[in-house]
Amino acid sequence: MSVIGKLGRFSRVVSNGRPHHRVISSLSSLPETHQMLYKTCRDFAEGELKPVAARLDKEQAYPHVQLQKMGSLGLMGINVPEAYGGPGLDSLAFSIAVEEISRGCASTGVIMSIHNSLYMAMIDKFGRDDQKKTFLSPFTTGETVGCFALSEPDAGSDAAALSTTAKPDGDEWVLNGTKAWVTNSREASAAVIIASTDVAKKHKGISAFIVPLPTKGLSIGKNEDKMGIRATSTCNLVLEDCRIPKNNILGQEGDGFKYAMSALDGARIGISSQALGIAQASLDCAIDYAAKRTAFGKPIIKFQMVQEKLADMALRIESARLLVWRAAALKDQGQSFTKESSMGKIAAAEAATFVSHQCIQILGGMGYVSSMPAERHYRDARITEIYGGVTDIQKLVIAAHLAREYGVGGNNH
Ligand SMILES: Cc1cc2nc3c(=O)[nH]c(=O)nc-3n(C[C@H](O)[C@H](O)[C@H](O)COP(=O)(O)OP(=O)(O)OC[C@H]3O[C@@H](n4cnc5c(N)ncnc54)[C@H](O)[C@@H]3O)c2cc1C
Repeated sequence: MSVIGKLGRFSRVVSNGRPHHRVISSLSSLPETHQMLYKTCRDFAEGELKPVAARLDKEQAYPHVQLQKMGSLGLMGINVPEAYGGPGLDSLAFSIAVEEISRGCASTGVIMSIHNSLYMAMIDKFGRDDQKKTFLSPFTTGETVGCFALSEPDAGSDAAALSTTAKPDGDEWVLNGTKAWVTNSREASAAVIIASTDVAKKHKGISAFIVPLPTKGLSIGKNEDKMGIRATSTCNLVLEDCRIPKNNILGQEGDGFKYAMSALDGARIGISSQALGIAQASLDCAIDYAAKRTAFGKPIIKFQMVQEKLADMALRIESARLLVWRAAALKDQGQSFTKESSMGKIAAAEAATFVSHQCIQILGGMGYVSSMPAERHYRDARITEIYGGVTDIQKLVIAAHLAREYGVGGNNH
């Protein structure tokens, strides 16, 4: 059994099977399971990811070996129940793991995050038993990953405007269209693809499908040449009369958009946690450098203006982490967490861009060159304000919830 498999068992013993209810204000206030998970991920990131992260970024090299080791730790199916090969840990555990992995390597963090929170979560939550045996269990080992394809060239924030279609033909579905920006697509062995089965019904005519990769009629476009998270693949999926078995539909026909939106709420906890990891790595780097670098006869950490920057950086990280952990705790308690997840995503993503910016400032010229990790953190941070739903869309989500809570309507759509 994996290390985290053992943690999963332990978790159920100490919590008596109930989600944690204690105040989660700091690491030391967490259940013992989560503290042990933190240490396992922290040690792994320090020993196996941090030393190779710059090379992976420079060579745009996918971290195959590291992901296999993460599979043996239980991280590649972290929320998957034991019956299907995972440790069955909760969302707070997922958040802690993604943060620590991303602190070592932000590319590896998002590969793990999207695999778990979108591909695996969709199948775990909405799939049948036979689908879970084929498309969930084998994906927990780290040997392979899954991807999730919702966005299209002309439908990003407005995802319901997607134009990919799935039409029934005998015992098969025939898929046509182009999905865009698909993380993990180059390496994935299966994709959850969102397509319209009834265009006239708009978002109520959208369904979700499991497509094994490779499949005839599906081709993968070129790797996007990205600013950051360069060790991940991001490609178009082009579907031209791509045929899949009729029973590869996920859940009910017409419910795919609802499923995708619900999975994205959880995925935002993952993106926020990746952002926290990048921010924390930037703070680690800035403090270490400021303690060693001298100017005007003393270490620069003694200058109050450097201290102010460090204090602001820590403040942004810790306040964002509380929001993200609150969203995860609400999810674990089966409560609504959509608004909180959007709040956590804005706070964590903006913390990552702010903190990585300040880190470069503290390093001066050394912040601007690739011999130090600061410039990579800065490039990696930027995407967290974009994918999983841009910041403006998160604000619309929050405002719509506020309007409902205050009973004043106000949704513009
Ligand atoms: C590296 C990377 C990886 C990704 N991985 C995946 C993946 O694995 N699967 C997947 O399905 N997608 C993925 N995406 C897609 C990502 O989720 C979208 O890029 C994102 O949702 C934004 O969509 P868009 O790029 O079409 O921007 P647009 O929707 O065109 O938005 C552009 C800007 O317009 C403004 N805007 C748009 N709508 C509104 C509005 N209603 N109100 C106010 N302002 C608005 C905002 O300022 C926004 O920033 C990925 C993207 C990238 C870059």
